[in-house]
Amino acid sequence: MGRVNMNTMRSALSLVKWGGVALLVAAALLSASSRQEAAVGAELSPARLKQHVEYLASDALQGRATGTPGKEAAAEYIAARFREVGLKPLPDGSYFQIARGVAVRTREGSSAVDQRNVIGWIEGSDVHLRKEYVIVSAHYDHLGARPGEGDTIFNGANDNASGVSGMIEVARSLASSAVKPKRSVVFVAFFGEERGMLGSRHYVVSPPFPLRDTVAVLNLEQIGRTDDTDGAQVKRVSLTGFDYSTVSDVVKAAGATHGVEVYKHPRNSDAYFLRSDNASFARAGVPAHTLTVAFAFADYHGVDDEADRLDYSNMAVVCDVIADAVLRLSNAADAPKWNDVPATQPYLERWKQLRGG
Ligand SMILES: [Zn+2]
Repeated sequence: MGRVNMNTMRSALSLVKWGGVALLVAAALLSASSRQEAAVGAELSPARLKQHVEYLASDALQGRATGTPGKEAAAEYIAARFREVGLKPLPDGSYFQIARGVAVRTREGSSAVDQRNVIGWIEGSDVHLRKEYVIVSAHYDHLGARPGEGDTIFNGANDNASGVSGMIEVARSLASSAVKPKRSVVFVAFFGEERGMLGSRHYVVSPPFPLRDTVAVLNLEQIGRTDDTDGAQVKRVSLTGFDYSTVSDVVKAAGATHGVEVYKHPRNSDAYFLRSDNASFARAGVPAHTLTVAFAFADYHGVDDEADRLDYSNMAVVCDVIADAVLRLSNAADAPKWNDVPATQPYLERWKQLRGG
């Protein structure tokens, strides 16, 4: 996730008094969605999650900074996993959406480089609903390395090798699930989140699947570490913009079937809404949230955000919830909606424009 923005903080604070209304709406919707059955295949493997994180957050990848070979190696790894789990590629047969000439600041100055979002998808099983899309996403870049002695590499294991690894295993789970998603499910690993959400901004400007038919985005960030500065977050998951759309109700219902509490953080759920790639989609009108386990942890954006500090058993349960939630979002008769609360007015307006034109 990126740094906090004061405007976001202010708008989040002005929203507090409206929370009660939104919760009532959420409660009513929850009772409807929890009746829905969901059944995803075998439980996710903590060992596989660990294997992905250990590679992506290894010193060999040098912190996956935008514009470096380490980040490109991560892109190749993700594409290979997408192929292995059986995701469909883009129409050109590749798993890469290329953004040409992205301006990147380096220590030597600024340069224009080609950057890649990694994309694979499962075509929906329903002849009508397959023309609608649910996106599961995670950014795969991080901060790189700094000059000097000792540990100089920002490994970004939790931020955000964890989200990418979870996305790969959720893809594996859904691709092999006995219950097929009716809507199509698109998996996207974004470049350049740490440089201003460049990859997700590129996606919404040049969407490979129509945005007006994209019904929800579940973006994954920091899902491996449970040692939040607020205390241990075991079998607990939060969403940003918790009351902003009906997506939260669906994730909450999925959590309940796995013994995982899906909760609204009193401060951070609103304050972090525009701090990751879901923001690019929300601004384009698509109901979009970031799902996280730890909003804040000791090694955030530090060189000690290493693979051995993640709780892989907990992460596997969290990914079971995500797979279940995505299946519910894909198979529900009605697509999720923005809730009509003050904070969502600009997104609701864009959503209406998307659907109308
Ligand atoms: Zn992040």
